[in-house]
Amino acid sequence: MEDTGREATGRNAIVRHWLETAGRSTRHMARAGGRAVLDLVLPPTCISCRAIVATSGPLCGPCWSRLRLIERPFCERLGTPFPFEASEGRLSVEAITDPPAFDRARAATLFGPVSQDLVHGLKYADRMDLAVPMARMMARAGRELLAEADVLIPVPLHPLRLWRRRFNQSALLARHLSRLSGVETRTEALVRRRATPSQISLTRAERRANVAGAFAVPDRQAGAVAGRRVLLVDDVFTTGATVDACARTLRRTGASGIDVLTFARVVEAG
Ligand SMILES: [Zn+2]
Repeated sequence: MEDTGREATGRNAIVRHWLETAGRSTRHMARAGGRAVLDLVLPPTCISCRAIVATSGPLCGPCWSRLRLIERPFCERLGTPFPFEASEGRLSVEAITDPPAFDRARAATLFGPVSQDLVHGLKYADRMDLAVPMARMMARAGRELLAEADVLIPVPLHPLRLWRRRFNQSALLARHLSRLSGVETRTEALVRRRATPSQISLTRAERRANVAGAFAVPDRQAGAVAGRRVLLVDDVFTTGATVDACARTLRRTGASGIDVLTFARVVEAG
């Protein structure tokens, strides 16, 4: 009798959990409810290696440890890690010989297999839930920039690409960063005037030409930028050509400072 009773209580708890989760909100009902039902059938898996994970976090233990966080020492301007011990306030050769249009860049992780899986999961696989832990890591890596920022502006997608992909992953990261830091996000403050072809096979100079003049601050949005310290938000910093073009546009509109915060950062081996 006792066993049957316990079993019934267990079953009731599952049904209650399902009802609560499925009815939680109207906006995310389909997504959250669907996931809750799936979680009862299929345990959550690691976004990178697909191993079963005990908690509903995005990564398993070994994959968390393979994620390479960027810590000091790094170039204070570009945020690129130094392979050796460096004194505080050091700048890289690149920052001195070819200074960027932005003031400082920081990233949470080095771009590698695990961070790539998180970025791709968010961008292409509809895993919008990944934006929460990714933004948390960005808030930690960018705490100095966030403390001084007046406004967060995500790197915009071209409207056609936004329509195809349905959401801008950088805007989603910026909104979560706003929630964590209290700094407002202005998604409309920067627009992409033209689609830029894929940058993958281009040289540094070609990438720069590719994005030159691609961005604009609409007149009605100038007040969000002029005289303010802007923190640009993007998912990946590759060569910096895109954020550099954004920074030039923001500077022309009168931004008093421009920093860049990304989730991942490509660092060429060398
Ligand atoms: Zn894993």
